[in-house]
Amino acid sequence: MTPPVIRVRFAPSPSGLLHVGNARTALFNFLLARGQGGTFVLRVEDTDTERSSRASEDGIKDDLRWLGLQWDEGPDIGGPYPPYRQSERMERYRLAADRLIMAGRAYYCFCSGEQVEQERAAALAAGRPPRYSGRCRALDVAEVTRRRAAGEPAALRFAVPANRDVTFTDLVRGDVTFHTDVIGDPVIVRSGGGPAYNFAVVVDDAEMAISHVIRGEDHISNTPRQILIYEALDWVPPVFAHLSLVMGPDHAPLSKRHGATSVSEFRARGYLPEALVNYLALLGWSPGEGQELVAMADMARRFDLTRVSHSAAVFDVEKLAWVNRHYMKEADPDRIAALTLPWFVAAGMVGDGGAEALRAVQSVWPMAIGAVDRLEEVPARVAFVFGWDPVEARRLVAAEPDGTRVVAAFADAVGDQVLTRESFRAAATRAREVTGVKGRALFHPIRVALTGWDSGPELDLAVPAIDQVAAVLADVPNCATRARLSSQ
Ligand code: GLU
Repeated sequence: MTPPVIRVRFAPSPSGLLHVGNARTALFNFLLARGQGGTFVLRVEDTDTERSSRASEDGIKDDLRWLGLQWDEGPDIGGPYPPYRQSERMERYRLAADRLIMAGRAYYCFCSGEQVEQERAAALAAGRPPRYSGRCRALDVAEVTRRRAAGEPAALRFAVPANRDVTFTDLVRGDVTFHTDVIGDPVIVRSGGGPAYNFAVVVDDAEMAISHVIRGEDHISNTPRQILIYEALDWVPPVFAHLSLVMGPDHAPLSKRHGATSVSEFRARGYLPEALVNYLALLGWSPGEGQELVAMADMARRFDLTRVSHSAAVFDVEKLAWVNRHYMKEADPDRIAALTLPWFVAAGMVGDGGAEALRAVQSVWPMAIGAVDRLEEVPARVAFVFGWDPVEARRLVAAEPDGTRVVAAFADAVGDQVLTRESFRAAATRAREVTGVKGRALFHPIRVALTGWDSGPELDLAVPAIDQVAAVLADVPNCATRARLSSQ
């Protein structure tokens, strides 16, 4: 038996930033495709012309690429079922709509927006499901023809069959049944001519030979409408899988008031793409074998939709930070330094970020590792290397019992050496021998004199970094240890 061909799609509406919940949807589609030798399609659902923009589409594509979710077919790279942007597929929707009209499965509706709204309100008030009454279904052909000829605006509605169940087996939620009596006839083509979501999505998924529709559970009540449209067009529906929504800690859908919600915000805060992807995968899925930290290729190999949970997934920023710390430690230090550089430039610490700036960041990164949750926090953590406040340093030294004496002895021992880890230790030992002061009473005055900070990274990393950075960034003021010591 040949294995089934897996074709999945991510179908964003380009009307804003890529929400992490949608990124997780894209990821699960991607993992299924990659794990099963399938195809991952990107389709842009831009029929809402007022809200859609090319800038948003570009932003979404950029975020997907950043996450490593490269598509196999899409608007920019084409594929066997073009075009991949709904606004360019109008002819296809028109043909499918004509087929539904010919088959008597769609009808023109002249009801105005206000009329439909009034009916909705009346139904709700009477405790009935707020669905379209189907009034225009009963219009006779002659009247429809006359009103259309007179140019009266008309939408096209799909005629939902009365009194039957629509059941589908959702790969995440099991069997799901809706009764058609609660489903009003949906608009499939708006009076302006644009296709409605429930219609365009069916035409596209069928024509693009999509085998599995994996999307957020906010679409589950659309699914019976879509299945009925598949049936009316004699098309076989795909398999559906609806993912539970991503929630904030208060169990309300993750939104602005919880903080960052979009991939670009997490990116701007300095999370690594591999960390965000790994964390998003854990929202509703478990790689198994008690493991949580799993790289993309391994996730794809293990991914199984039937092991995706249907209970709500709570977005936990602490856990994301933990995952990010892991990947920051794992990553190639030179890559991390290059990724961190823009934050140093933005903080005005390394000029415009040339090759010397990169070397400076490379030399301070070991101090930040293990001490920060994300790249954005690195400059603040090592700021003492790049600039230092002599007044504050003097104040802190003076507050230490043997501070002044220790710092003077240490300065003598340093002389005009450029400090390495070894020469720093040797100078500290010499200061101990000269003053007889040891332990914290020795090291703390040295720390506050050189960093201006009461606490911070380990001294034998911190102190040599001051000289290393000064050596590559000649224009950093107050930088070298010798200059700092001599101003005490
Ligand atoms: N454009 C829809 C959305 O962004 C796609 C829904 C679907 O996957 O069918 O919600």
